[in-house]
Amino acid sequence: MMRHLTRARHAGAMAIGAGVAPRRFAPYHLAMRLPSVALSIIIALAATRPAVAQSLQPKWSDVERETLEHFQALLRLDTRNPPGNERRAADYLKSVFDREGIPARILALDSNRTNVVARLKGTGRKRPLLIMGHTDVVTVDSTKWTHPPFAATRDGGYVYGRGAVDDKDNVAAGLMTMLLLKRLKVPLDRDVIFLAESGEEGNTRVGIGFVTSEQLPEIEAEYCLAEGGGTTRIGGEVKYATVQTLEKRGRGIDLIARGIAGHGSVPLASNAIVHLAGAVARIGAWRPEIRLNETTRAYFERLAAISPPDVAQHYRGVLSADSAVRRAADDWLYEHEPRHSSMLRTSASPNVITGGYRSNVIPSEARATLDVRMLPDEDADRFADAMKKVVNDPAVEVRVSSAFGRPTGVESRLDSEAFKAIEASVRRVYNVPTIPVMGTGATDMSFTRAKGMQCFGIGPAIDMEDGPRGFGAHSDQERILESELHRFVRLNWDIVTSLASPKEGAARPRAGQR
Ligand SMILES: [Zn+2]
Repeated sequence: MMRHLTRARHAGAMAIGAGVAPRRFAPYHLAMRLPSVALSIIIALAATRPAVAQSLQPKWSDVERETLEHFQALLRLDTRNPPGNERRAADYLKSVFDREGIPARILALDSNRTNVVARLKGTGRKRPLLIMGHTDVVTVDSTKWTHPPFAATRDGGYVYGRGAVDDKDNVAAGLMTMLLLKRLKVPLDRDVIFLAESGEEGNTRVGIGFVTSEQLPEIEAEYCLAEGGGTTRIGGEVKYATVQTLEKRGRGIDLIARGIAGHGSVPLASNAIVHLAGAVARIGAWRPEIRLNETTRAYFERLAAISPPDVAQHYRGVLSADSAVRRAADDWLYEHEPRHSSMLRTSASPNVITGGYRSNVIPSEARATLDVRMLPDEDADRFADAMKKVVNDPAVEVRVSSAFGRPTGVESRLDSEAFKAIEASVRRVYNVPTIPVMGTGATDMSFTRAKGMQCFGIGPAIDMEDGPRGFGAHSDQERILESELHRFVRLNWDIVTSLASPKEGAARPRAGQR
């Protein structure tokens, strides 16, 4: 769900001009002493050294043909949710695993909305690694699509179809990684588990909710990879990759105003509509305190480092110890890059308002429903108390809904082996920096993080310009560049092999070219 929120189209990135090159980490001190040819070889080797031995590298031209075949097959399965019918995708994936001799199981709460899990055994020296992707897609208005949404049409270097970037790209890349590990007999220090789950777009009960509560041993892992991150291309050039390491938690809060009912011809000071309107206006103008965590701090620092100075100053401004500087930067972000403003705090947006039923009756009650997205460590009661002070009206109740929509998870650490491996893989595959990001929306990782797994959201490179043109996730067209789908498979392969294959012995990395 909500990849349109999490999968990059950062407002901030829009500000990075096409002329801004990503940072490079060339060893300048060596440049003083070595001929330029030798230097370029050193840099090339450092950037391209594969995560496993050259003898274990796939033949990528064959891999690309097969990737497209599976990807198109998955796109052609109509798994729009509702109703889902994810069984179609689960059966397809299971048949591929069966053919390949990879043990796979169907996990089902609802026989039409099944999940599939597959496992490659490792030595057990390390705890497992899980690769996840969801098989359901959001609904379509077919009349708005140039290429039919479930035809997987190839045109001009793109593949079109619902799910192309949410999330059948992750599913296909995970599938290919499993097939390659098995065929190349890559030695594994840890089990590699693949999960394709149903119901991510609003029915987690049949998908990740069911799997984590009823079938946890099937997927329990130290680390997991899923959707939620992205790789940003601007002007056809990849600039940076975002990796989602935590996400906000949605929790509803209602404002309920109560007054005395009466005849509309006699205005009353206790009018519930008037009290509610005042409360909503005050909440709308309120920006709760800025609170950064490890991820958002690193996010703004790293984004500043690759952004033009006029924008970078605002990213640095929110990190300032000076509250006036912070406030000014926050004002700018709120106006120009509201998603970044939301990343700074627990946010509250009044989205539904109800009250009254005929023009000559003063109603006794009126209600506003707020979409509150809490920082992962937010204390809901403390936040509600702060909101009450802002509402500042005893006639208006601030009522927190009883539970979070999704569970609370741990923050995936930036100093973990997994994050470092992802960074190194991004460098090898794209030669760009990695920026950790906190999702303002929610993904299935909230469930796996709640079980103690450190999860990281990754995604293929997408043109920044594609979203506003209407080709993004959940749009009336959805597409992915074939070349970037293939690069994403390499990214998955590189991350998984560097995390799961032994560092010593047969698979010791050797310098080489891909
Ligand atoms: Zn998704």
